[in-house]
Amino acid sequence: MKVALRLFNPKSRAFVESIISNASVEVRYIVDRDDQKWGEVDCDYKLPIISPYKLLQLVDSGEIDFLVILPFCGYYATKDVIEECIEMGVPKEKLLVPSVPDAILFQQGKITDLSTFTVDEFKSLPRLQYHIADHCNMNCVSCSHFSSLVHEEKLMDMSVMERDLKQLKQLVKHIDVIEILGGEPFLNPDWKEYVILTKRFFEYSQVEFITNGTMLWKLTSEDWAFIKENDVIFRMSLYKPFWNKADGIVALLKEKNIRYSVNYRVMTRFAYMFLKEPKGTAEDNRINCASDCFQLYYGKMTPCSRMMYIHFFNDYFKTDYPEEAAVESVYDIDDYEQLLKKIKRPMALCQFCNIHLKNQVFQGWDNNHSCNEDIKKWIY
Ligand code: SF4
Ligand code: SF4
Repeated sequence: MKVALRLFNPKSRAFVESIISNASVEVRYIVDRDDQKWGEVDCDYKLPIISPYKLLQLVDSGEIDFLVILPFCGYYATKDVIEECIEMGVPKEKLLVPSVPDAILFQQGKITDLSTFTVDEFKSLPRLQYHIADHCNMNCVSCSHFSSLVHEEKLMDMSVMERDLKQLKQLVKHIDVIEILGGEPFLNPDWKEYVILTKRFFEYSQVEFITNGTMLWKLTSEDWAFIKENDVIFRMSLYKPFWNKADGIVALLKEKNIRYSVNYRVMTRFAYMFLKEPKGTAEDNRINCASDCFQLYYGKMTPCSRMMYIHFFNDYFKTDYPEEAAVESVYDIDDYEQLLKKIKRPMALCQFCNIHLKNQVFQGWDNNHSCNEDIKKWIY
């Protein structure tokens, strides 16, 4: 089988070497979008670098049997290349798209036939979020997870999450990034168990904690060692009362050698959650929103936190915004295609959502508890 490779990056090296050393595969070219590289020879493997246009000619002439799209640049890059190839006229059956776990099984010699990696077998997601605490130690107005409206301690049931992740793994081979959050995730004393659980089902996913940073000082040296060992990334939203601690938090994370990022935008202003009255069609709003911030919560899946946690808002303000989840039960889903189809569909709540509006209205961030008594701080 004569192949060309696309989306080569340093993480792909071991997989590429296993392809090159596979007796039934002959690697002939590397395809690259960077026009400055066309005509050059790759330093590592001494392979000619060609354009996607040249690839099409070589596929048409039979000089190349398959383009192998390497999976280590992530879901979006992989999908972009698949779409680009098909749009240019490369037949879908000429594309081989292993998921990350499949590529690693190939590296390990547990899969030997590259041709099994059809486009339909890619079965990956870019991102998943799940709550381990619905409540929070802050009261941000218009919190997009509605955690400032949850006034009692509300922790995830680990046996439920275990079952849900296990079921999701039946449908999805790989998820690039799994974000554990809330509310404030460090309010859950079992947070380490959730990292272990996540890695049990999605071994190659990047696990991240989305945190407001208020509890980092309480972490022990054993906690930091665990975070480091599991390569957990910290994504932090630092709000005004903690701005004077920002440099100290970063110094602490650097000292512990933990990967992190600090979100600037969300700590200064928040969008109102909903419109008082429906606007546009659910179909148009959903297309314009394109949210893929997938949530998993007690067997349900949604494309966004608004749709998943709207019941907290309705319960608090006695409103009746639509509560239906795009996927009411992952246990009723047969396969990956059905999951994607359901989760992408427009839902009644989309008509009330302002996320897609160009003139989305924002308010300054506020942590005043009394703000949350006033529904006008959430809808307009
Ligand atoms: S810190 Fe984050 S989760 Fe907590 S209330 Fe504020 S926005 Fe919501
Ligand atoms: S409710 Fe609909 S429009 Fe709003 S963020 Fe979710 S999917 Fe997008």
